[in-house]
Amino acid sequence: MRVVVTGGAGFLGSHLCDHLIARGDDVVCIDNFSTGTVSNVAHLRDHRSFDLVQHDVSIHVDVAGGVDAVLHFASPASPVDYAKMPIQTLKVGSLGTHNTLGLAKAKGATYLLASTSEVYGDPLVHPQVEHYWGNVNHLGPRGVYDEAKRFAEAMTMAYCRYHGLDTRIVRIFNTYGPRMRPDDGRVVSNFIVAALAGEPLTVYGDGTQTRSFCFVDDQVRGIAALLESGEHDPVNIGSPSEFTVAELAEIVLEATGSDSHVRYLPLPVDDPKRRRPDTARAEELLGWNPSVALREGVQRTVEYFDSLTAPGLG
Ligand code: UDP
Repeated sequence: MRVVVTGGAGFLGSHLCDHLIARGDDVVCIDNFSTGTVSNVAHLRDHRSFDLVQHDVSIHVDVAGGVDAVLHFASPASPVDYAKMPIQTLKVGSLGTHNTLGLAKAKGATYLLASTSEVYGDPLVHPQVEHYWGNVNHLGPRGVYDEAKRFAEAMTMAYCRYHGLDTRIVRIFNTYGPRMRPDDGRVVSNFIVAALAGEPLTVYGDGTQTRSFCFVDDQVRGIAALLESGEHDPVNIGSPSEFTVAELAEIVLEATGSDSHVRYLPLPVDDPKRRRPDTARAEELLGWNPSVALREGVQRTVEYFDSLTAPGLG
């Protein structure tokens, strides 16, 4: 297959590029490096099956030659990043989705949209099933991401129904692992970076809010399985093991052996109180289940951040 991956130099996108290259695909990685980095794909740059194109997909996208699949992963994905880039976030989720759908249609390619658990907002249904419509404050600071992704899903379904495009929608729940940026702002990277530096771990609110953390390798395996399936309706991919943020802080302190303290800071506006995917559809349709436990995944992520600061490497 020849696959276009937008956001391919990002945290998740770069792992996806690795997976596709490893299985023998040709990959065209498109990224504007607003949150992605060249270093995430530096190891692929000389690979004959890998092309890196710097481009903002909210502007018309052109790719020469045949394309079998378009995977749209370009977007700021951390609440800190999309608060810094609200308009770009709305544009890449709306115009970027339209442009990449247009590319897939022109090439007769399969299309996969990276959607998000944020489409459920601060959910009133728990765990979150795909047919739940969500509880999103579109006017709040998170609305730029949530609403862009909801629009992106609607646009993808419209291309599927109206143009007969072969589409997929993955709803990605909190995913972590190597290649998260140290300044990404998400909780796993923040806690690990702070613990390794001996700085306080910043718990927002009282730490009782929950998330279900999925290791990146499991996430990529789920996305690849969805791409292979013929499923057009959204599928949640995420860990069904739910932890409080306070529990995560403990796990990070254990994994790093750090004696950092916890510092409590205000909870961000509209921060979801509970989040856990219902993964029955992923299991039934794709035979997918995550295999990396949180303690193991955190350990592997700690090793990555440790290597960034190791003498001679940083
Ligand atoms: N959080 C925290 N400390 C941090 C960063 C995040 O307590 O340094 C909390 C945040 O308020 C949320 C949870 O951790 O309740 C997950 O936040 P993240 O930004 O990783 O992703 P979200 O699931 O909110 O998109």
